Amino acid sequence: MTWIDTHCHLDQPALFEKIDSVIKNSIKSDIEGIIVPSVSPKNVNKVIKISQRFDLCSLALGFHPFFADHVKDEDFKTLSLLLIEHDAVAVGEIGLDKFLDNIPLRTQEKIFKNQLDIADNLELPIIVHARGMIDPITKSIREKKIKGGIVHAFNGSFQQAEQLIKLGFKLGFGGVITYERAKHVRSLAKNLPIESIVLETDAPDMNPSWLENTLPNEPAQLKKISKIFCELRGVDTKRIACILRRNTLDALPKLSKLYT
Ligand SMILES: [Zn+2]
Repeated sequence: MTWIDTHCHLDQPALFEKIDSVIKNSIKSDIEGIIVPSVSPKNVNKVIKISQRFDLCSLALGFHPFFADHVKDEDFKTLSLLLIEHDAVAVGEIGLDKFLDNIPLRTQEKIFKNQLDIADNLELPIIVHARGMIDPITKSIREKKIKGGIVHAFNGSFQQAEQLIKLGFKLGFGGVITYERAKHVRSLAKNLPIESIVLETDAPDMNPSWLENTLPNEPAQLKKISKIFCELRGVDTKRIACILRRNTLDALPKLSKLYT
């Protein structure tokens, strides 16, 4: 029984400084794959190198809304070329964030839409950050006819989930489901169609409850997070593992080359 961590920032110092042990722990904890997205033009090369160094890691390339003001016009051309050259599995992490004071939404939207065009041109799925912005993101995805992907750390309504699922998207859940107090997210994870869900750690962030305010999160934690997910759903772990694996391969079809 294996698990795929569909979202992990292994280039972040908290993980990168001990990356060999992070990878070793992952393998020991039945992690079959880790999707590592870039977030800005500045970390693209680091993320590419990580994906080349470790078989366990697959690459996604994109510019996150947090770093929208680091992105220059010429960076989009480079992004397209690197996505092709390194056979990335998705354009990501991209998106919009309602709660960023320092980066106007207009700037975020320009960067996001340019990357949707790239995903459309290259027929790639996207990995999306959608904090407080699910509706505008869903509208853009629909307009640009994007070929599915993952909305990570999903925390919208059931109705918003349904819209995204109809557009071919999977919804990512991670450490948040391990907190009793996260009633809404736990209810989503428990009740959404199992075919629409993938798991992630978002490490080094989104610590599960047993690591709250202590060590950084890491992909190995997915084994225990997935156990809690199975308990929430009340379904046999083996069956869930098999379905989630298939969901991940559906969301990111290029992965199937690695895992068959
Ligand atoms: Zn992320």
